[in-house]
Amino acid sequence: MSYLKRSPWVIHYDASSCNGCDIEVLACLTPVYDLERFGIINTGNPKHADIFLVTGSVNEQNKEVIQNIYNQMPEPKVVLALGICATSGGVFRECYNVSGGVDKIIPVDVYVPGCAVRPEAIIDGVIRGLKILEEKHKKFQAISGGKGELTIAQAGIQDAGDILELQKLAYQSEAELYNDFSLSPLTQTLEQLEDDFKNKFFLKSVMHDKIIGSVRAFMEGDTCHIGRLIVHPSYQNYGLGRKLMREIEAYFPQAGRFEVFTGHKSRRNIYFHQRLGYKIFKRERVSELRDRVFMEKFANKDRK
Ligand code: SF4
Repeated sequence: MSYLKRSPWVIHYDASSCNGCDIEVLACLTPVYDLERFGIINTGNPKHADIFLVTGSVNEQNKEVIQNIYNQMPEPKVVLALGICATSGGVFRECYNVSGGVDKIIPVDVYVPGCAVRPEAIIDGVIRGLKILEEKHKKFQAISGGKGELTIAQAGIQDAGDILELQKLAYQSEAELYNDFSLSPLTQTLEQLEDDFKNKFFLKSVMHDKIIGSVRAFMEGDTCHIGRLIVHPSYQNYGLGRKLMREIEAYFPQAGRFEVFTGHKSRRNIYFHQRLGYKIFKRERVSELRDRVFMEKFANKDRK
């Protein structure tokens, strides 16, 4: 972790700032503040960045760009919303095309207020971000580093209650995305979920005796349908979803292809599955608010 603490690389994106905050970010790099003396480098490549600095508010034009940058950054990562516009939308909050602050579309770890945000506040925010990065790194190691704290195993009907509770928690963000709280994962009853155990195979991931992730699948012909990949919000972005997907695919060696689906606005899910080798092959309208995007992967590709 010391390499991260001593030389974190940052990437800066100007969402729709008036440029006031951007000038202050640049001021941090000038000889007066000279952030680079701490090993902090402003990189233009999201794949090299640990810390994402965003200035300005979110609107229809820039939200995809922000999400794309965020998705391309490796885990663990930290996001700083710099200035009142990035924090809440600021003076532009009521504009017809402004959705609000950065946390409307990606998780924000540190809010740094100000209009414009001062260089000292930016530096303080980066330092707070580094502490969070360190905590995330420890969690990431526990989940992805195979230190033994995390187990993934088949779930049984006795786990249905815990899985349902987790499912309702994990799907909140999806419901907010579509402003639709009638999504089936949120309205499913315990009896219905228990019934799913008759024809679906469930995996659970357990940490410190608590279920923090789950996924289920069933076979139809030579296709393995995988669904309801859920991870507790506190453990998201640490590679657990990827681990669960790999495990459940491995439980179905007979499958010729794998299929998943997600909502059309769920760009993070789409990107996540693309990185696992899935490709979009179909889109279907489910309601006024939502289309379902179907993705597939053939078994011989990307199989370990
Ligand atoms: S917070 Fe103030 S200075 Fe910064 S982008 Fe918004 S309006 Fe400009």
